[in-house]
Amino acid sequence: MVKVKSMDLNKIRNFCIIAHIDHGKSTLADRLLELTNTVPLRAMKNQMLDQMDLERERGITIKLAPVTMHYGDYLLNLIDTPGHVDFSYEVSRSLVCVEGAILLVDASQGIQAQTIANLHLAQEVGLKIIPVINKIDLPNAHIDETKEELASLLKIDKHMILEVSGKTGAGVEQLLDSVIKYVPHPNVASTKLQALIFDSRYDEWKGVVAAVRIMSGQLVKGDRYFLPAGKISGEVLEVGVYQPQLKPELKLQAGQIGYLITGLKNIDKVRVGDTFVTNSHDAPLPGYQQVKPMVFAGFYPKEGDSSNQLREALEKLQLNDASLFFEPEHSPAIGYGFRIGFLGLLHLEITKERLEREYNLSLIITSPSVAYKIVTRNKQEKIIKSALELPTHDQIESVWEPVMKLDIVSPVGYVGKIMMLTTEARAVWQTTDYLLGKGSTPERAILHYQIPLSSILFDFYDRLKSVSQGYASLNYEFLNYQTCQVKKLDILVADEIVESLSTIVYEDDAYYKARNIVGRLKTIIPKQLFEVKIQGAIGGKIIAAERLPALRKDVTAKLYGGDVTRKRKLLEKQKKGKKRMKQHGSVEIPTEAYLSLLSKDTTNQ
Ligand code: GDP
Ligand code: MG
Repeated sequence: MVKVKSMDLNKIRNFCIIAHIDHGKSTLADRLLELTNTVPLRAMKNQMLDQMDLERERGITIKLAPVTMHYGDYLLNLIDTPGHVDFSYEVSRSLVCVEGAILLVDASQGIQAQTIANLHLAQEVGLKIIPVINKIDLPNAHIDETKEELASLLKIDKHMILEVSGKTGAGVEQLLDSVIKYVPHPNVASTKLQALIFDSRYDEWKGVVAAVRIMSGQLVKGDRYFLPAGKISGEVLEVGVYQPQLKPELKLQAGQIGYLITGLKNIDKVRVGDTFVTNSHDAPLPGYQQVKPMVFAGFYPKEGDSSNQLREALEKLQLNDASLFFEPEHSPAIGYGFRIGFLGLLHLEITKERLEREYNLSLIITSPSVAYKIVTRNKQEKIIKSALELPTHDQIESVWEPVMKLDIVSPVGYVGKIMMLTTEARAVWQTTDYLLGKGSTPERAILHYQIPLSSILFDFYDRLKSVSQGYASLNYEFLNYQTCQVKKLDILVADEIVESLSTIVYEDDAYYKARNIVGRLKTIIPKQLFEVKIQGAIGGKIIAAERLPALRKDVTAKLYGGDVTRKRKLLEKQKKGKKRMKQHGSVEIPTEAYLSLLSKDTTNQ
């Protein structure tokens, strides 16, 4: 075994940055990387830790990102986290690997829904919270008011709150000193190896690269390891730290965060939440709770024969996205594909983009749906993830839908309008809390509701933003299943049911939904040589219909002069052709049609 001297645990600090989306986590991380000379100045770019192209283009963090820094004689491990509710699993996995959290609040926005949600997650695992007001350089920064609110939320004295600007760097050095002073050093209870896998990724050459927090023991290149959940052993090919690129080290010691190159190519063996131990009888750590996917959609390759490629891509992506769920699905109309479970629509959109960019696939995506629980007449329970699985009406005793705990955070002035919106969206109000501002007057309301998941999926967030002039924000989590009155809405194009457009709708909403979809399809489906009927139907009964007029193609255009008989012949031929096509009803529906029926812009939640 290689002998490398271990660092004093007193000199190690592990922490993460948590906040609402856009409050400046990744930008603050940039300043920390500079201050600690972790990344040479010439290599620095904005939001350095957002390493995926997709993150950089959209300006949002999707993945947790660890980085190791040296500051004086301290070793600091930071994990930057995403803020959007769809990626909160990334946050909760990060929190278990650290002892403290910088809670960042944008001084121009104040406290928002993910500020509170992420704070609660951090408090649940007992982290030391370092409260910080960010963006103090902005002309519209309300530094004092934001401090009052944050002090009211945390029930602390407002003088304990730090002020920084991730843009100018003001206050960042003091912040780092506070991290060292207040975040406890890691505690190590034993000398046995226990290294928690909190993230992983697949590398074509190196196999699975696992991100680990060493809870106890150490990892040295060449050591043997065992994975209790994967039931597989192997040899440590390399260990090292994130800088943020992989930097090999001789060993990783207890208390550290770093990576381990497993050399394993069978990716289903290295699961997030598993523990690297030494022997097969060693106890693993408790790991992570499995996440529940909330929204399901069918993903099909555009080229029918590439469903194997799609499977491989999904397996690799799942390594890097522990919240992804998928199972094979077959549609008579589109062929072989997968039903994929997501944490929300932004997650769906990001997954589609990653599959297309990173794995070169073209995809057809079916209408997203929440999962319903069905109780059949013969008292059997099953979860259905698509409209196609809904049994016929006479077999169903009851249908249950997922209901969420919804928290909306808003300045008190907008509460009336928000109440109206939530009522329309079938939300049921529970309680309201207030955050106090100057002179202990209620500044901001935290409204607690129960709401069907299907109500928040599509445009709820946009509407919330518009009634509150952008000031309200929301967070939600699964509560339970409740009974509901729903039906399957079929869409027929040229008298044929287009399975992938079938959706489950509330009974009292069915006419509106059917008219809406049929109307939108009329503008999306290209005109054909014959008239096309577009209809919405429930249980075989047509409840909405549109007609897409025929495209009159001028088949005689090529003819000169007055050759009337030829002209007539050609028109006759066209008529026959139309008849044949009509019988076959072969209207091709462009993929854009599916897509445009889906989400609006779902980013920035
Ligand atoms: P994150 O979503 O919390 O990681 O936020 P980002 O670091 O991506 O920042 C969101 C936006 O706020 C970006 O446009 C940043 O340039 C901007 N920003 C971040 N910190 C500051 C700051 O201290 N001052 C100002 N003026 N802008 C900032
Ligand atoms: Mg970020």
